[in-house]
Amino acid sequence: MPVAAKRDYYEILGVSRDASEDEIKRAYRKAALKWHPDRNKGNAEAEAKFKESAEAYEVLSDSDKRRRYDQFGHAGLDAAGMHDFSHMDVGDIFGMFEEILGGGIFGGGRGRRRSRGYDLEANVEISLKETAEGTERTLEFQRNDVCDACNGSGAETGTKMITCSTCGGYGQVERTGGLGGLFGRVVQVCPHCHGRGSIPQTNCRTCRGKGRRPVSRTVAFKIPAGIEAGQAIRIRGEGEPGEDAMLRGDLHVYVQIKQHPFFERHGRDLLCKLPISFTQAALGASVDVPTLSGKAEAKIPPGTQFGQIFRLSGQGLPDLRTGRRGDELVQVLVEIPKRLSKRQSELLREFAETEDKTVLPETKGWVEKLVEFFAGEEEEPKSKS
Ligand SMILES: [Zn+2]
Ligand SMILES: [Zn+2]
Repeated sequence: MPVAAKRDYYEILGVSRDASEDEIKRAYRKAALKWHPDRNKGNAEAEAKFKESAEAYEVLSDSDKRRRYDQFGHAGLDAAGMHDFSHMDVGDIFGMFEEILGGGIFGGGRGRRRSRGYDLEANVEISLKETAEGTERTLEFQRNDVCDACNGSGAETGTKMITCSTCGGYGQVERTGGLGGLFGRVVQVCPHCHGRGSIPQTNCRTCRGKGRRPVSRTVAFKIPAGIEAGQAIRIRGEGEPGEDAMLRGDLHVYVQIKQHPFFERHGRDLLCKLPISFTQAALGASVDVPTLSGKAEAKIPPGTQFGQIFRLSGQGLPDLRTGRRGDELVQVLVEIPKRLSKRQSELLREFAETEDKTVLPETKGWVEKLVEFFAGEEEEPKSKS
């Protein structure tokens, strides 16, 4: 997620942009089987790919998320209620998609229902100045929440819950393992009641029996000064509700930092490239330098060389933990004039003589030469004063 550029979701699953729901489902099953951590023991890349395909499937299998992604790319999902797969346990991902993957694929109790809800992720972008000072943000995001019409039971008001006929109320069934029997016979969470043992007699009309529905949620939070790009703020209890609605997951807000026109970040230090004239470099000068808080005066000593770096102490970013500020590094770029006036040229020629350096003789300007060139072609040599 953070920092590294995200890959295209269609590319991850190897499907076309107009792929049907069924094609996407099949492509995800295939990818999950291929990168399945039990078949790629100790292979961190396989686990990353496994999580990446789960993320791609989460987006492409959800019409709302897919539409946002098609329209705005990854940025469209910044607050769309994405699960934070990077921090999720592999077993939990199987639990989440057990209907597609087939539960119990991992055996050994991995198909359990977890009581705590899943973590969500969102993204915000702040400026470098906000990074220096710390800031606050309000974020509106989508999350799957307890349906308020049925209080999460999934039953229409006034109707009862009845024992699930698939598992007889046990919440578990024994069946052929996931992905076409590849994993033998396993005990898995009942796909009908999702492990609850009971189902609504009549489904709640608002959530269609799921007990959960997408709602918009707004949270305010602080971003500490000195945060690094790609770091996340953890907001406890703002993720999805679990089986037990009181045990919510967390929301991880990943922070991105906008590029600044003058500054490049190097840890706590800021690098600023400052063009100065060659006379300023040679003779010394006092110049205005941009800083995050406005501007500062920097002394360029006589004899300054191209690329030399000056330090404005304490004008960098604070350390996230200690609060100690870094410096601003001003790197001077000496500019050589592209065009000289007659007078400037004279002075420099005189200067060159004192250095005992040979320089090119004075040349005529381009326009003058052009006039001469055409004059020559027409064979009407013009007398020049
Ligand atoms: Zn409901
Ligand atoms: Zn059941």
